[in-house]
This record gives sequence, C-alpha cells and structure tokens, in this order.
Amino acid sequence: MNLSFRLSRTLRLALCVASLALPSKSIAQSPASVAYEVSLSSPEQHLVEVQIFLPAGAAQRELQLPVWNALYQVRDFSQFVNWVRAKDRSGHPLSVRELDKSRWQISGVEGGAIVEYQIYVDSPGPFNAQLNTHHAFFNLAQILMYPVDARSAPLNLRFSHIPEGWHIATPLASSSGDEFSAANYDRLVDSPVEIGNFQESDFDESGGHFRVIVDADSADYDMAKIVAALHKIVAAAASWMNDRPFDTYTFIYHFPRGPAGGGMEHAFSTAIDVNADAMKQSLRALTGVTAHEFFHLWNVKRIRPQTLEPIDYTKENYTRALWFSEGVTSTAEGAIQLRAGLLDEKQYLYRLGEQITELERRPAHLTQSAEESSLDAWLEGEGYYHRPDRSISYYNKGELLGVMLDLAVRDASHGQESLREVLQWMNANYAKKGRFFNDSAGVRAAAEAVSHADLASFFKNYVAGTEEIPWDDFFRSVGLRVEAVPNTVTDAGFTASRNFDGPMSVGVVTSGSAAENAGLQVGDTIVELQGRAAGRESREELAGLNPGDTVTVKVQSRRAGERELKWKVGSRQEISYELKDLDQVTAQQQARRVAWLKGEAQSATDRTSGTAGTGTAK
Ligand SMILES: [Zn+2]
Repeated sequence: MNLSFRLSRTLRLALCVASLALPSKSIAQSPASVAYEVSLSSPEQHLVEVQIFLPAGAAQRELQLPVWNALYQVRDFSQFVNWVRAKDRSGHPLSVRELDKSRWQISGVEGGAIVEYQIYVDSPGPFNAQLNTHHAFFNLAQILMYPVDARSAPLNLRFSHIPEGWHIATPLASSSGDEFSAANYDRLVDSPVEIGNFQESDFDESGGHFRVIVDADSADYDMAKIVAALHKIVAAAASWMNDRPFDTYTFIYHFPRGPAGGGMEHAFSTAIDVNADAMKQSLRALTGVTAHEFFHLWNVKRIRPQTLEPIDYTKENYTRALWFSEGVTSTAEGAIQLRAGLLDEKQYLYRLGEQITELERRPAHLTQSAEESSLDAWLEGEGYYHRPDRSISYYNKGELLGVMLDLAVRDASHGQESLREVLQWMNANYAKKGRFFNDSAGVRAAAEAVSHADLASFFKNYVAGTEEIPWDDFFRSVGLRVEAVPNTVTDAGFTASRNFDGPMSVGVVTSGSAAENAGLQVGDTIVELQGRAAGRESREELAGLNPGDTVTVKVQSRRAGERELKWKVGSRQEISYELKDLDQVTAQQQARRVAWLKGEAQSATDRTSGTAGTGTAK
C-alpha cells in the first residue's frame, strides 16, 4: 500500500473555504472525536496554523502543548506559539486563559469549539518540526496541543494548503489523501510526517512491506543501494528477534549538506538524517543508524520501561533504563550489522575497542553509573555536563554492558543462551503481554530467567554501580583480551560533543593550550571545521590532523557571536584499548566466538565439545 498523496488544486481551494468555516468534512463525519487541521499556507514565513475542533462536552477544557518529545530534553515548544484563540460553533469568540507556559484553558465550549493557534517551525532534523519552501517535516508533538481530558481518545488529522506538487508520507492510517487518523494522541505524535517532493521506493522483506522516503538531492544518494542495504538490515533484525510486529514500516531519510546525523525511532517508522558528504563516501553512516533505529521498534517502543509510561509531556520523564533502551539498542545495532554482513569481525572488534576507549578515557566512569547517566539524560543540552569528569554516555556504557551481559549469559549457560534469547524473552514476556518492564530489575529478571544464573553482582557493580569492568574476565571465553596501547595523538586543545543531531558544542578547552589562546571557549558551538559544516564526521577530521597542522573553526556563542579561529594543533600521549587474540585460543573459545559474532547461541555440537577451563566471567 502506498500512502503518499497529492492534493489537487481544486481540493485545495475547497479546503481554503472550509477551513474558515465550521467543521470541515471529516469533523462532520465524526463529531464525537477531536480533529486537527494543520495549514501549510505560509512556508516562506515557517508558520503553521493549527485548528483543533473540539466536540460538544464539558463547558471548560484545557489544552496542553508538550514541553518535550523525541529528545530527552525539555525544549518548551510553546516558545514558538505566536497566539491562541477560540470560537464556538457559530463563530463567536470564546475565552482563552493561559494557565502556564504550555497550557491553555478554554471556557464556554459545551457546544463544541474551534481552537486556533499559529506556531513557528523552522528546526531541521528528525527530532524537530520544519516548514519551508522546500518541504515540511513534523514531529507532531511539537505543533499539536492535546485536550488534557481526551489524550487517549481517537483523533483525526488533516493537512491543508499543501503547496502544489507536494506529497504526504507518514505511518499514520489514512482515510483519504490528506486525512489521517490515530487511536490516541500518543500514537499520533509517534508518527513523523514528511510533506514535499520526495522520492519513494517500496519493498517487501520478511513478510513486511517497507516504504523508503528520501528527501535529498538526487546526486547525493543511490536509492537502489539504500534499498539493498535495508533488505539486509530488516531481514537480519527480524530473524534475530524471530518477530515482525508490524505490516508496514516507513523509513524517512534526509541527507542535508550541513550538520546532520541522527535518527528518531517510532513504533512503525523512523526518521533519519545523514550528512550528504558522509553518504557519498560510504553507506556505513546510514546503515549503522538505520540498524539502531529499526531495532528500537522492539527495544523502547514495545519492550518498554515502566518509567517511560505513561509519557509525561509536561515535565521530565525520569528513567534509569536508558543504558538498556539506548545502549543495548546499540549492542543490537552491532549484532544486526554482523548478521547482515555489513560489518566483519575485524571491524566489529575495532569498534568495540573504540567504545572501551571512550568509556575508560572519561574519569566519570568511576563516579557516574549507567543508571545515573540515564537519569541525567535531561542535562545533555548543557555544555558543562559533557565534560569527561562529569558524565559518561549511557549509549557508550550501555552498549558495552549489552556485550558483557551477552558474554556473561553465554558463560553461565555454557553457550546455550545469549543476549538474543534475553531480548526474545523480554519481547515475549513484556511486549507481547502488554507489560512494561521494571527498569534494570526487569532486564535482570529476563537475563536470569534465560541463563538460570544469579546476575545480582553484574547489575550491582556495573549497572547501578561504578566498579571498573574487568574486560579480560568477560572476553576470555571468546579467546580475546583487551590491550592498552599508548600512542601519541594530535591534540587540538579541546573536546566537543554533539547531542543527537544537535550542533557540536565545546565541552573542554585545555588550559594554556593554543586553542584557549586563540579564543575558543567552553560552550561555543562549532559551525564549521576546516571550511566544512560540522557534523558526525568532524571527529574523524580532527583525528586526521597531524601535530603542527593548522585547524580552522568557525564558532558561535551567545555572548561573542560568530567568529573564525585558527591555531596550530599539538600532541599528547594517550591510551587506546584494542581487542587482541589470547596467546592461545582454544577450539572451544573459537566456537564461542563464532556464535557470539553471529549473535546466536551455540549449536548442540559446539556445546558438547567441552566446557571446562575457560571463561569465568561474572
Ligand atoms: Zn536510540
């Protein structure tokens, strides 16, 4: 089924008239439910006008605009709301009272009402909302208020004043070209919407139908190659989970020339941005993030921590489980790519070494646990928080914990069980039964049910605690050890990090460094590096410089505005961690490794070839 539509000129004219008057067609047909009309009449001004049709009911109702969605960050979308008005079904104005910065009370609505507001949307990326002359992309939670008393009721949504030639792509169910419906508000805002002149290629795989929507310059990508990679990712993930909990799934891609990189997961879709230059170099930037976001359709969308439900759109939704929901999704990203043949053993072990290096280099791995890092996700918009002595990443440590848990489960079960069985157990016992899991305790329950081992100390020491992870104890069972390799590296005099697809922000400037003397400040946003827009690949670009090379950055800050800085990079000693073969790898360790790199438990023959004397990972 193809859900992209084009609106004829006549219908658009009809909608112009209808939107000024009372309940348009869809609302008249279902007067009992709340309906939205989103007008795209002002793309040049980036202004969206929203009408909410409230059915007859209570005399007073409240409307809430979420303060966060997609990113675990309070972003106060109401800052972009220019005005809010309301009228009754005869067109008489109704009283609108702002209760707090994101909530409005409408009175006199017993006979039904139309609430209207204007909102400015011009933020690119999969977590945001944007309307311009090129396209519209909506994270709907950013633009649609919900009636506080009807968040769980079915809703209708219609887009109007769509520019000529634009189509609509969204996983939402459609009743006709420009009209969509959702079972409730949560489902509505879990559905990204792309409206524009995009390319689409659909395919079937593993029994499911897949839509691939690409809004980018056609010179920057090869649709056939993307679809071929998606076939492999989808097949690998579905076979790994032995499940396909959807009929249709939609991939929405943008390949911007500027800063990009990041994806947002949804239950039936994902929206992903990859920098156009990175796309031209290889598909790896796309396949990694795609495997990650696709696996989220299980882990976090269906295998979901209790602490994220019900979603609280009015304030922070604290959870200790992001090390699992995000980090172990990254572990799965690796497993899926291995199974899909998109990563080989050497590349995978190199990547694991990089992850260990990243964790070990942050002194905060001894002070902030994986659970605390999850709780503190809400601080990630702040520059200071990214300092290596302040925080670790729950993506980074969580991915490694997923690998260690996999090895521990294999060890405890003599190779008969693995992370795959743990995830399948959680899918069967939580997701399929409509239950949420009890954060880390729920993960532990699953891992213990599968391995029949007591994993208390694993969770106490490494998940809730900040004990050093004894890497070699875990990796021994697959014939590997972790080697600390000292090397001389280029030192640009600062570290910078990116928050999801957000800008690169300077976290640390080394005291007395050339970077400091050049005027670089903590909190500066890096706009360009070496004349190119800063993005995901900037880190590699920096790493590729040699001591003595000149680095040129364009930075921006609230206080000092935009400025260009240049300085010569220096060098320093640092330790990298690499995975190496043990001096002697036994047949049994080798068999365990082969199964581990397939993401599978060992076959019966592998298991009976002897189990004594190897890994004693706890
Ligand atoms: Zn994720």
